[in-house]
Amino acid sequence: MRIFDPHIHMSSRTTDDYAAMHAAGVRALVEPAFWLGQPRTNVGSFTDYFDALVGWEPFRASQFGIAHHCTIALNPKEANDPRCAPVLDLLPRYLEKDGVVAVGEIGYDSMTAEEDKAFAAQLALAIDHDLPAMVHTPHRDKAAGTERSIAVVRESGIAPGRVVLDHLNEVTVAMVKDSGCWMGFSIYPDTKMDEERMVAILQEYGTERVLVNSAADWGKSDPLKTRKTGDAMLAAGFTDDDVDRVLWRNPVEFYGQSGRLSLEADAADAEFAGNSILRGARK
Ligand SMILES: [Zn+2]
Repeated sequence: MRIFDPHIHMSSRTTDDYAAMHAAGVRALVEPAFWLGQPRTNVGSFTDYFDALVGWEPFRASQFGIAHHCTIALNPKEANDPRCAPVLDLLPRYLEKDGVVAVGEIGYDSMTAEEDKAFAAQLALAIDHDLPAMVHTPHRDKAAGTERSIAVVRESGIAPGRVVLDHLNEVTVAMVKDSGCWMGFSIYPDTKMDEERMVAILQEYGTERVLVNSAADWGKSDPLKTRKTGDAMLAAGFTDDDVDRVLWRNPVEFYGQSGRLSLEADAADAEFAGNSILRGARK
């Protein structure tokens, strides 16, 4: 089974995770820029974070045979912090970089006026830079948040086929399917969507325009949820080709719209800017 995890925060994960993901079939991933669990207090923190997403983390992934890409944005939660608002001015230079395959995560957290502004501004950046957009739907008041996100996407003029709305569930899937946007599902260990519910959604809505991700990060999450969903699909009677479509060809099609996907994990370099992932003297 070849797997492309279209949403996973590897900066928060260990080398054991990389090794287990490779063993499970993960060969490519996208790491969206997001919030780190604690507020950043200045724009410089974002610069260093974005630099790691296009530099150190792809190098780390390459050491495990996994192709790493990222999305860059000011996340919805920190869009509310006036100390972070100037991050919007940083984005254009990152959106030109090779490993950046979309603008994201954007969208709503608490649906404030500040979030409205950042969301619309970043959809405009996606259009300007000819990139897809990755939209996070809020965990509270999800139906209203998703409906409003679809309205903002429509207003922006970006083609719906270039937008994924993520963290969907049974309540929000139909409206997103009707909108023409891609449907993203994050499979979590205890809360929100799990692999059985995901299989039921695939049975009802089909495999077209569907992305399945682990959204693993610094919270309680599981980087192997993509593989476990593939196994659950097979157990429920889906074919190998269906699984390949959902877990590989769909994310390749969606993020391929950036023109920047590079699916060869090139581990030729053992060092990045003079540093390696090894500890102690070389054997
Ligand atoms: Zn995320």
